[in-house]
Amino acid sequence: MTDPCGEDSHAPVPGLVHRYPDRVLFLVTDRCAAYCRYCTRSRLVSNATGYDFHPEFDRQLDYIARTPAIRDVLLSGGDPLLFNDEKLEYLLSRLRSIPHVEFVRLGTRIPIFLPQRITPELCQMLRQFHPLFVSIHSNHPRELTTEVRDALGRLADAGIPLGNQSVLLRHVNDDVQVMKAHVQKLLRCRVRPYYLYQCDLIAGSAHLRASVRKGLEIMDGLRGHTSGYAVPTYVIDAPGGGGKVPVSPEYVLSRNKDRVVIRNYEGKIFEYPEAMDGRPLFRASTGSLDAT
Ligand SMILES: *Cc1c(COP(=O)(O)O)cnc(C)c1O
Repeated sequence: MTDPCGEDSHAPVPGLVHRYPDRVLFLVTDRCAAYCRYCTRSRLVSNATGYDFHPEFDRQLDYIARTPAIRDVLLSGGDPLLFNDEKLEYLLSRLRSIPHVEFVRLGTRIPIFLPQRITPELCQMLRQFHPLFVSIHSNHPRELTTEVRDALGRLADAGIPLGNQSVLLRHVNDDVQVMKAHVQKLLRCRVRPYYLYQCDLIAGSAHLRASVRKGLEIMDGLRGHTSGYAVPTYVIDAPGGGGKVPVSPEYVLSRNKDRVVIRNYEGKIFEYPEAMDGRPLFRASTGSLDAT
């Protein structure tokens, strides 16, 4: 597919995807520091429209300004950190002048591909715009070089909470040991693993796609086996435009009239007393379990 997540059909203005009630994806440029074969926006990136803002920049900002439901703006593209500091500062000030925009985040692969872009000046500029979060995109522990770690440290020192989004890739990171090493290394780089994406059905990416079964096996090998902070949420961005849907190994084995049967990370089985309709159950004096 060329637009696997149905972004174009959820764009009230070109380059602005409004899929969820309270937040928008703001595509600010079509340029990146390097291009990913599996990119969900392969149809848009590097169309050589130059290094300026999106051609519809004013309409994009105007839509956000006149839509009070938008409290969260995610800047992506393309990579917003390809703009120079002045352009980025202008963009962030324009957003910050909109009273209902509470929260801004940048989605960027630049700390990985071009860590020298994370200069002290950039960090100093960004810290005016808190609360500002940054989501980076790393897929493999070998991407987290010492230069990358230092760049991430500069962002963290500027008070920017860092999250990571990975794409599950066949023969790259579709392995529990690789993924565990990756998420643990991310924490050492002060980055909280946020999402693990099932690879979108983008044209030309079939050889990179791992199965959902494999993704679930990896999640099962992370939860409980390492720090909870290291465990991302595994999501499928629903083909056609349903948004991100979390998929998880099954920990609830059954729900009976008086209990929920669960298993832990080791496969051991436990019971939590609860009525089918969610009412709490109290142990009666007879010692039996009863709905109260
Ligand atoms: C991923 C995404 C967001 C942000 O989703 P969160 O779950 O809040 O991180 C917003 N809009 C679109 C269109 C997205 O694809």
